[in-house]
Amino acid sequence: MLYIFGHKNPDTDSVVSAIGWAFFKEKKKEKAKAFRLGKLNEETKFALKEFKVPFPPLLKKSQNKKVCLVDHNEFQQSIDDIKSAKIVEIIDHHKINLSLNEPIFVLTKPYGSTSTIIAEIFFQEKIKIPQSIAGILLCGILSDTLIFSSPTTTEIDKKVARKLAKIAKIKDIKLFGKKLLEKKS
Ligand code: MN
Ligand code: MN
Repeated sequence: MLYIFGHKNPDTDSVVSAIGWAFFKEKKKEKAKAFRLGKLNEETKFALKEFKVPFPPLLKKSQNKKVCLVDHNEFQQSIDDIKSAKIVEIIDHHKINLSLNEPIFVLTKPYGSTSTIIAEIFFQEKIKIPQSIAGILLCGILSDTLIFSSPTTTEIDKKVARKLAKIAKIKDIKLFGKKLLEKKS
């Protein structure tokens, strides 16, 4: 089984991209499950509840497990025993700082969120995204880009967000984004 998780002190992008990627793996008939490395913040809880997605379980150990890191690639940001895990995949939108002993699957793009990278793969591979997954991935984009206002925002983030909003039946992206980001405080 593949254990998929984002960084410590999880934010919305790290949690929903793990869930999105686990769903993608499921579609590919691969055994995978999403986890979190810490307490969910109020914004993330709101996002998951809004689209009726269950909270991912807490992962305490990664020793000897096959893992996929999403939304981070530095060991300090990962689970404490990450050096004893078998990292097989990394999907991230941050600066890459890797030193690995083996070739692995690494997917990075300079987008505003990991959720954008994952949603784009669904679209490219023409895999149908259910409303719930579309909704939470949209939350990942809105959260990381601060509703497209952060300097990391790209045109792809906006385009992907519009497509996701349509599937998630969110009519007013900015209004929904405000409701989401309000929960942070
Ligand atoms: Mn993050
Ligand atoms: Mn992120």
